[in-house]
Amino acid sequence: MIIVMRASASVKEIEHVTSRIDELGFQVHLSQGAERTIIGVIGDERPLDRAMFEVMEGVERTVSILPPYKLASREWRPEGSVITVGNASIGGPRLAMMAGPCSVESRSQLLEIAYAVKEAGATFLRGGAFKPRSSPYTFQGLGVEGLEILAEAREATGLPIVTEVMAPDKVELVAEYADVLQIGARNMQNYPLLQAVGKTRVPVLLKRGMMSTIEELLMSAEYILAGGNYDVMLCERGIRTFETYTRNTTDINAIPALKHLSHLPVIGDPSHSTGKWPLVIPVARAMVAAGADGLIVEVHGDPEHALSDGAQSLKPERFAALVHEARRIAEAVGRMV
Ligand code: PEP
Ligand code: MN
Repeated sequence: MIIVMRASASVKEIEHVTSRIDELGFQVHLSQGAERTIIGVIGDERPLDRAMFEVMEGVERTVSILPPYKLASREWRPEGSVITVGNASIGGPRLAMMAGPCSVESRSQLLEIAYAVKEAGATFLRGGAFKPRSSPYTFQGLGVEGLEILAEAREATGLPIVTEVMAPDKVELVAEYADVLQIGARNMQNYPLLQAVGKTRVPVLLKRGMMSTIEELLMSAEYILAGGNYDVMLCERGIRTFETYTRNTTDINAIPALKHLSHLPVIGDPSHSTGKWPLVIPVARAMVAAGADGLIVEVHGDPEHALSDGAQSLKPERFAALVHEARRIAEAVGRMV
């Protein structure tokens, strides 16, 4: 951290700042310029609150040098993280293709779609058993029964399962079934939940909050990493803007930005990003081209009758077309599907 003193700062004020830095166990680097004094705080500044210095007499402003996240930063692991789930790996040359319905609705629905997405090229099966719905009057998911059905579909198809956990007291239960624990956009800053999944050793798919910055997403990942769970994937699923035609606005910039700032794999969600199935394939193409390490796509055998997110769900044959196109684009950018 750098502390810039006012031109009018007195020697006493400068000494007050440097002795506080010293007290906190940091080293001081003083630079006395022609007009003002600049004080460097040497050491890992992340636990420090800049406001502590900003309130001091004679201080003009402070400037952070390090990003506030550490374990999530690209510097921590410059080569990039590869997460292994069963036979699949996420973050390597091959893209992860996660597909399935928004919600597990019944045994027959899920088994049918699981076989269909596998046939089309999916490498993971997604499906929510605990659903974060905007209305308490709509379908809330099958709960434990949904987890049982997911486990049966994994058994039948061999596809590892991605499913959401919504509450800290359900982490242990969902972790018994899930191969990847999904943290939904609405829970990205649920810190007790992040800490709870940080205690497990189950890989986590952390979705970006709809009103969260890239830095806030990385700080949430940091919570999980700080708990000792290093298998975290970040997911861009669209953010809220003034635009109302689409459900959310795909922040395509976030994909290369996250890859630049962090070593964690990045998954694109073209379904929640758009909210409209005709837009899903074009946006999925853009996500692969932008460097995503995988996609998570909602696929339903009968979108008209889906209990959640039917409007953004692809039919299996359209998902097959998406995989085909994603493969060609992946090859063009040095990756594989
Ligand atoms: C979902 O994946 O079905 C979901 C609820 O996503 P999000 O948390 O991104 O809205
Ligand atoms: Mn959904």
